[in-house]
Amino acid sequence: MDLDISTQAKLPTRFGDFVIQSFLQKSPQKENVPQAHFANQPKEHLVVLSENIAKILAQNLQNFEQNPKQDFANKDFCVQDFSKQDFKKVDSSQKDFGITDSPNVCQKTFSDFVPLLRVHSECLTGDVFGSQKCDCGGELALAMQKIAQSDKEGRGGLLIYLRQEGRGIGLFNKVNAYALQDKGYDTVEANIALGFSSDDRDYAIVGGILEYYGIGEVELLTNNPKKIEAISRFVRVKRSEIIIEANKHNQKYLATKKAKLGHLL
Ligand SMILES: [Zn+2]
Repeated sequence: MDLDISTQAKLPTRFGDFVIQSFLQKSPQKENVPQAHFANQPKEHLVVLSENIAKILAQNLQNFEQNPKQDFANKDFCVQDFSKQDFKKVDSSQKDFGITDSPNVCQKTFSDFVPLLRVHSECLTGDVFGSQKCDCGGELALAMQKIAQSDKEGRGGLLIYLRQEGRGIGLFNKVNAYALQDKGYDTVEANIALGFSSDDRDYAIVGGILEYYGIGEVELLTNNPKKIEAISRFVRVKRSEIIIEANKHNQKYLATKKAKLGHLL
């Protein structure tokens, strides 16, 4: 996976103080898809870390920089499943970051607790404009609250914000899908009518990001079984539900998510 990683910056929010870092994903050209298509555009993702987690990661980097050659693999503080992964330096100029399984370096990070994780796919209409057609904005706010609260309690977590608008079809197609929904299609039927699958999201980058931070186990805030399955390929996952109240506009959407996409609502 071809990733560029920014340096970190502070982000005070109405939920609490966070640290942010951006990952630039250069998509490989997909076959049979025009180059200008959303799927082939580079994507800028955002990771929002609670202060406690950011501090642990910084300490971890420092330990690694002081002892880059040390073999920690058999030390009892190592977390077993990711004890042999490489830990890479945060550097905005870093190129070609990929999932590796080579060096014998244990990054002690989260052996004392499991961080909360929300993997949130971009929904411009819901996250920014307060759309009530879906539950994205409410889920995003609730996840930020939960992570901030958890940080106050000495734990903390991170939110990985993936720029895959409209379950991976892009904003332009999403608006066309909404127009079909105005004519009575449900969210799945509309995507399919436009030539997409019911869910085109891709979580591969989450594996790269979690590996980069040396996180081997998470408490995942989600109702989506596909997301649990996808992220379980990279780290140990314990699921925590994230439930917001339905309104008259999104009742049908939530019912479709439950019936057709298997969401645990
Ligand atoms: Zn949404």
